[in-house]
Amino acid sequence: METPSDLPKFAVLQLSGCSGCEVSLLNSDEWISNFNLVYMPLVVSTHKLPEDIEVLLVSGGVRTDEDLHNLHKGASRSKKLIAVGTCALSGGIAQIPEGHISRESYLDSSHRLRLPSMLPRAYPIDKFVHVDLYLPGCPPTPELFITALKEAENARIASIVCQECGRKKLTNMRPTSISGPRSGTPDPEICLINQGYLCLGTSTRGGCGALCTRPGHACVGCRGPANPYLNKDPEFVLDNLRRVFTRMTDIPIEEINAALASPWLSLFLGQFTDYTQDQSLPQRTKEKMI
Ligand code: SF4
Ligand code: SF4
Repeated sequence: METPSDLPKFAVLQLSGCSGCEVSLLNSDEWISNFNLVYMPLVVSTHKLPEDIEVLLVSGGVRTDEDLHNLHKGASRSKKLIAVGTCALSGGIAQIPEGHISRESYLDSSHRLRLPSMLPRAYPIDKFVHVDLYLPGCPPTPELFITALKEAENARIASIVCQECGRKKLTNMRPTSISGPRSGTPDPEICLINQGYLCLGTSTRGGCGALCTRPGHACVGCRGPANPYLNKDPEFVLDNLRRVFTRMTDIPIEEINAALASPWLSLFLGQFTDYTQDQSLPQRTKEKMI
């Protein structure tokens, strides 16, 4: 029988992020019998990243020089590196510039010493190191973590969220205005777009099991672009959404455009697709995406 020390060494490196990915991973225990967890600061009390890691999961974006240092160290010590979650893939929430006041107080060395230096923004990790596999999501579900760790080669992931949603798209139910994200009680059987909600499921990659749309919350795209939109300009994604809403609703185009450009939606789309605007990043192929 294999003892934990016979199993491949598995580590989780957390850069600037929120620990949501780690919590999602911990919500599944299937990986425990396949790996020997040797490093994960959230649950394993060691500061030493071992030299010979088989699989390294990296969550969080590169926001400080310390993140960059740790990322290079992790990459040089691991055979396979998997980028997990929105922050590792796009920079995530930490890329949104903070208010001047909190930033200045945070950087004030008279109050706090030896803080890492901030980089100009939060970067996705593939700007700096080779990534073998990408696992998008904010956070990825426990099932997706297991897919990435155990059966990435044979994974069959739904191409878009609509495939897993189960709500019916109707041709004879055409809303004339957009409903706010928390307004009303959506019919549980019918596509949220037919009910006027700004759902992004048509251009978002599947795999999450339509976690939000099945209970009635519009998808905000946290699994990132579906394969046809990988590496494409964000305007390409917005064009598709515009087409979907024009085809399925009678909402005036000005209202659709205003909703697509709203700060609320930009907050999400900016995080989940922002990497496409950085020409210095490697192209992400669909074979490497879970
Ligand atoms: S509710 Fe959203 S995810 Fe579900 S079918 Fe409609 S557009 Fe697709
Ligand atoms: S339904 Fe959309 S927002 Fe919700 S988990 Fe899936 S991809 Fe993310």
